[in-house]
Amino acid sequence: MFDFVKANELFNKPLLELLYRAQTVHRQNFDITKMQLCTLLSIQTGGCPEDCAYCAQSKRNKNRPPMERITDLDEIIKSAREAKEMGASRFCLGASGRKPGAELLDLVCKAIIEIKKLGLKACCCMGTLNEDEVVRLKSSGLDYYNHNIDTSPEYYKNIITTRTIEERMKTLALCQRHGIKICTGGILGIGESNKDRINMLLKLKSLDKDPELITINKLVKIPGTPLEDAPEIEAFDLVRFLALARIMFPQSYLKLSAGRETMSDELQALCFFAGVNSIFVGKKLLTVNNSRYTDDLALLKKLGFSKD
Ligand code: SF4
Repeated sequence: MFDFVKANELFNKPLLELLYRAQTVHRQNFDITKMQLCTLLSIQTGGCPEDCAYCAQSKRNKNRPPMERITDLDEIIKSAREAKEMGASRFCLGASGRKPGAELLDLVCKAIIEIKKLGLKACCCMGTLNEDEVVRLKSSGLDYYNHNIDTSPEYYKNIITTRTIEERMKTLALCQRHGIKICTGGILGIGESNKDRINMLLKLKSLDKDPELITINKLVKIPGTPLEDAPEIEAFDLVRFLALARIMFPQSYLKLSAGRETMSDELQALCFFAGVNSIFVGKKLLTVNNSRYTDDLALLKKLGFSKD
């Protein structure tokens, strides 16, 4: 059982002690030479009615792009095929917006069936879901639903006011109840404290079952958003946080998602040592640039990783 006192004590251990513990847990549960590669395709971009302070697509972004959609199933399948050729084992479809409309849900369900035929795991991210939508996604073969809680319950209102953290937890719980694996986490460097970071992990720990994947983003500052000048997260705080996440969620994949392209190879290697075993590859992560694919492959090769 983890509570704030225990998690905080771990977080503040001497760094090498914390890393040793995280690495021990990692080795007990995973092959530490494997890295999971995922690819994301944004099928609905921009024009979001939500007000997430960090997001380029949010209504709080002064330069918000208008909504654009991919409506062609063949285009999605082509991207999934390319992702597979790049070595990805998972393909995620992302859509901006509060919740999926009927048209988007239809398209995603058809795409899931085709993605699975390629031998890829299918993931999607479309905001809040009701039970009928969860059931439809499950019957189409969806493996993972991505829905982040973003930050701690206490800090949440500073970042989003248009939907509550409990609404997000409800969608996650619904997915779990219907046997869809969940991929959830948050974003660091949005002005939150280490206490908030720990409390976010404790909130995720309160789900009936640990998420199969914890996804952690480092803020990519977007000009025009309220967080364009947010203070940088201290590198060792990031590493400590990831090590704590690895210890608290021993059997979950731990993904270092947006923000990797702003990190040195050495910092990324330290994050992998702390327990990260999943990354996004490809040119773009929704609206922000991702680390370049060739750089990623070169780094993984240098560090002796193979694809999971
Ligand atoms: S994070 Fe998602 S829900 Fe929030 S503004 Fe961006 S696209 Fe909309």
